Amino acid sequence: MVTIKCFTNGGFGENTYVLSDDSKSCIIIDPGCYSKVEQESLKNYIEEHGLKVEKIVNTHCHIDHVLGNYFAKKTFKAPIYIPENEQEVLRAVPTYAPMWGFPDYQAEEPDFLIKRKDKTLSFGDTKLEVLYVPGHSPGHVALYHAEQKFCINGDVLFRMSIGRTDLPGGNHEQLLSSIAEVMFELPNDTKVYCGHGEPTSIEFEKKNNPFCRVES
Ligand SMILES: [Zn+2]
Repeated sequence: MVTIKCFTNGGFGENTYVLSDDSKSCIIIDPGCYSKVEQESLKNYIEEHGLKVEKIVNTHCHIDHVLGNYFAKKTFKAPIYIPENEQEVLRAVPTYAPMWGFPDYQAEEPDFLIKRKDKTLSFGDTKLEVLYVPGHSPGHVALYHAEQKFCINGDVLFRMSIGRTDLPGGNHEQLLSSIAEVMFELPNDTKVYCGHGEPTSIEFEKKNNPFCRVES
């Protein structure tokens, strides 16, 4: 049984997810903690639940999703995984971090790349399916758990919205294809956990999302 805990960080309202299972292993997805308070709350949760962090994973490498990479790696001694096509996006972060109000951002190199041929990512007794959903950023991945029917989808689908595509490497048409061909192929009752805002479901977005509604 996978437990999902969400932390919301900073002015972007970025969501970090900690997924843990009965083995007490966990992964941290998109650690966006920048302030001391945000970092402490993540650390306290991990410690209080006696979790061992196996991996730190970025769905993509925009600044709000990687602000806490350095902290998480140093604190939990776990390797960082990023999608292979996100290396350039990650390398660009230090150049704009100070302008965006994050002068103390510390860059951290990834330890492993999630490659296109990688179908799964595991931790503890849990296997997550890796979905390739570029568009919001060039190498964006989502993580899907078929048994419990949930998907951690970063900035692909939001409740009633979709990820922006005006940042370098963004592509609106590609994002719409990722949604139609990958996300909307998931079961309707899949719960979707977003990089910003409330969770949603595939069925709700098919019916209500003004950007990618499926007319029936
Ligand atoms: Zn993003």
